Amino acid sequence: MTARILVVDDIPANVKLLEARLLAEYFDVLTAENGYDALAICERTQVDLILLDIMMPGIDGFEVCERLKANPRTAHIPVVMVTALDQPSDRVRGLKAGADDFLTKPVNDLQLMSRVKSLVRLKMLTDELRLRAATARAISLEDGLETGLGDEPGDILLVDGRGSSQDRIARALKPIAEVTCMSDPQAAVFQAAESNFELVIVNANFEDYDPLRLCSQLRSLERTRFLPILLIAEQGDDDLIVRALDLGVTDYVMRPIDPNELIARSLTQIRRKRCNDRLRASVRQTIELAVTDGLTGLHNRRYLDNHLKLLIDRATARGRALSVCITDIDRFKLVNDTYGHDAGDVVLREFASRVRSAVRGADLACRYGGEEFVLVMPDTTPEMAAGVAERLRAIVESEPFQIPGKDIALSVTASLGIAAMLPGGDTPDALLKRADTALYEAKRSGRNRVVAAAA
Ligand code: GH3
Ligand code: MG
Ligand code: MG
Repeated sequence: MTARILVVDDIPANVKLLEARLLAEYFDVLTAENGYDALAICERTQVDLILLDIMMPGIDGFEVCERLKANPRTAHIPVVMVTALDQPSDRVRGLKAGADDFLTKPVNDLQLMSRVKSLVRLKMLTDELRLRAATARAISLEDGLETGLGDEPGDILLVDGRGSSQDRIARALKPIAEVTCMSDPQAAVFQAAESNFELVIVNANFEDYDPLRLCSQLRSLERTRFLPILLIAEQGDDDLIVRALDLGVTDYVMRPIDPNELIARSLTQIRRKRCNDRLRASVRQTIELAVTDGLTGLHNRRYLDNHLKLLIDRATARGRALSVCITDIDRFKLVNDTYGHDAGDVVLREFASRVRSAVRGADLACRYGGEEFVLVMPDTTPEMAAGVAERLRAIVESEPFQIPGKDIALSVTASLGIAAMLPGGDTPDALLKRADTALYEAKRSGRNRVVAAAA
């Protein structure tokens, strides 16, 4: 894992020390000796993480951090405050300024490395998702990605071996979240997998249970893989923290717990979770768009080509029936020629919605191209398919199609060809071809009718 890290400190010896350690781990290191230089570097080049001193002449670390987080171009860069003053009030001020973590001078080597690596890993993931979301935004699928991330109360699961500290922590978090408290770690894993928590806080205070077991189970389950975990550890328990971060625990706080720090860190995690969830949803939307027909909202031909094979294989393996129906609007060119292309589009959309109304949820409806549509009907015999096709034919014929703004009611009909899967196995191409031949026969013999392929 290589990443570019900016070290900011006004004392050259401090810069040299951190730089040497990071170079030894093959990180790419940039340095700055004051806040202004740091801001200029971040504007100019790509930086993956900043180690930021607090006490500096000119603008101090808090203000540098605030400015970075206020600038959309730099807001996503993780900032680790490096400070000699291990004061809770400093931590809270730093977190309010948007810092992602703290290191205390003299910097503990293991903590430096696990912290840097874990934040860089997170940054890589977020960069990738941001990039995909930007593409989605470019085709105007998504906006307001950054808004409203921390306004709603959060949903936190607290796993804590002791009732008294459960109460104290739940009370501290009351201003920002609903807290569900559990003391049985095994039950908590199930609960987390079945609910929609936004953060799990694990208090490492169990009598006879290794809290890292819980953390590693949460990391390995599909449903909780991306759920942030905040560990509460004993002062000086560095080993546990290092191992926890390696396992993918997202953050930690030390006992005695400072309620402000707990709130600030929990909020940061909840915001990040919401941001990543939205980014993931937008990626999913992009994928859906690639298999959806823009005019009608039905699946497109690309989707059918991929999915029909799976449906055939599944039906064959289970010994079930499967039928397809191809339908083509009659004399559709005439609609375009007479009323214009826009009127044609209106007819296609209305036709698609009638197709949708004629089929079951388990059926797959696609726009195959132009004015041709395909229905794939699992668990459907040829007789049943003929019934569905006849129903669709009647739905199209019975109600004229209204063209908005033109005061026209068009009579539209369609021809339909159906074919059934051969029980011994079939291919998508062969099956569709038989349905298409039947459709051709329906056209040839007068249109507005259903023809079944010969078995
Ligand atoms: P037939 O009864 O034999 O099917 O006659 P037809 O006129 O429906 O068949 P033909 O294949 O000759 O014409 C299909 C027409 O569909 C031609 C094309 O302009 C039109 N078409 C294809 N895609 C679209 C579309 O997205 N929007 C509109 N408005 N028209 C389309
Ligand atoms: Mg046609
Ligand atoms: Mg056609």
